[in-house]
Amino acid sequence: MNYPEIELYIGGHWRRASGSPIINPADESVLGTVPHATKADLDDALDAAAKGFAVWRNTAPSTRAQIILRAAALIRERANDMSRAMTLEQGKPLDQARLEILRGCDIIEWDATEGMRLYGRVIPAGPGLQHTVHRQPIGPVAAFSPWNFPMSSPARKVAGALSSGCSIILKASEETPAGALQLVRAFHDAGLPAGVLNLVFGNPAEISSYLVPSPAIRLITFTGSVPIGKHLASMAGQHMKPAIMELGGHGPVIVCGDADPVTTAALSVTAKSRNAGQVCVAPTRFFVQESSFETFAQAFAEGASRLKVGNGLDPSTQLGPLANPRRIEAMERLVSDAAARGARVLAGGQRIGNRGYFYPLTVLAGVPDSALAMNEEPFGPLALVNPVRDLDEAIAKANALPFGLAAYAFTNSADNAQRLSNDVETGNLSINHFVASTAETPFGGVKDSGYGREGGTEGLSCYTVARNVSHKFN
Ligand code: NAD
Repeated sequence: MNYPEIELYIGGHWRRASGSPIINPADESVLGTVPHATKADLDDALDAAAKGFAVWRNTAPSTRAQIILRAAALIRERANDMSRAMTLEQGKPLDQARLEILRGCDIIEWDATEGMRLYGRVIPAGPGLQHTVHRQPIGPVAAFSPWNFPMSSPARKVAGALSSGCSIILKASEETPAGALQLVRAFHDAGLPAGVLNLVFGNPAEISSYLVPSPAIRLITFTGSVPIGKHLASMAGQHMKPAIMELGGHGPVIVCGDADPVTTAALSVTAKSRNAGQVCVAPTRFFVQESSFETFAQAFAEGASRLKVGNGLDPSTQLGPLANPRRIEAMERLVSDAAARGARVLAGGQRIGNRGYFYPLTVLAGVPDSALAMNEEPFGPLALVNPVRDLDEAIAKANALPFGLAAYAFTNSADNAQRLSNDVETGNLSINHFVASTAETPFGGVKDSGYGREGGTEGLSCYTVARNVSHKFN
């Protein structure tokens, strides 16, 4: 089966504990047990993170980078075994699991080398006076990562913290723990000093309400839903802790009349089916200029219907199962509500079988603004395709929701691109492609989609504080 035994990792040591079952979403079988940390485990992790920080912040940036790069190299060597475990626990097709791991390595490597360039500056002052600004690691970090990207989401947080000189306690997903475990194992094997990185699982609410207020923790980073993000951000605020909040989205896609509707539809099928749509940057609301609408909608529906749905371990599978039964319930609720309000089902629309959480890529057209799916993040394989008169209407509709994480547009007009760049309310806009974030660019939201950035120099600076030293010479 190749599914690893899941353990806690605290102060450089692996710990076993009793916990809850891990379910394979393709057949609902039990893969193993995820250990739940006790309060004593969390106290040990806090103590370890404080000690680890004292060591790591005083380790030369070049030495830190060497250790982090060694971990990334080990992960690349182990990518095949790691991807198999991630497909078993999360459902995504093997090639997507492998790509996630390689992309996670890109992020770790970029951050590791950028961590050697966290430069300060010297600010001009009067004679006999010097101001120097230092970027110092903020301190031990409490990180909470979700189930949809079991490796790359924790990798972003671990790489950001470690490359900036911080220590970290990672509370990864209990539903998909192997991605995080294998990531942490690579850092252990690469020789990371004890306590710099710690891994716990358990009851998420109990762990966050214990770690966030702890005086040892100096920064919170969370990826997950808007309601939980707001809850954690307010807890962080009560304890005056800065936070990075990567929350949900409801990706608008604006297809202008000058873009090729058939090519854009083919790209949309691939983008929407990635990880079965369980992606915060998934394209969801398609606003297509009237002249192209029917051609686009038909090509999208045909492409969606051709996708091979199945167990992610089968190399021919293009769309794996959804990760948990909550996503099936959400798809059924959103699709039946939209259909009842007059939306046309162009593809999909029904659960496949009743063992394993399979749901096809579903394309709905003519979905009214009042439909639940037009307002609630579907977080699944659901595309909503609607016609718009012009760019003004498309931008107004794109901006109508409280979300603002990733947006997409297809156009060959420089004027349209300029307007979209200015006027779409979003943290990330991709024009003529569907890649929302890369290792070297800042990624994050506006409005309810959160704040703080991961990736790029902006991402690393979230893990540091600017300290000014003002020195008067006698
Ligand atoms: P959820 O809101 O219960 O949980 C979302 C995440 O937060 C999970 O990883 C969970 O373990 C964690 N969590 C829950 N309560 C917590 C707490 N008190 N403290 C710390 N962590 C906590 O929903 P879910 O069913 O797991 O996921 C559904 C929704 O979550 C989706 O519809 C989507 O909007 C959102 N989500 C977003 C992302 C993302 O990448 N932004 C990832 C996963 C889930």
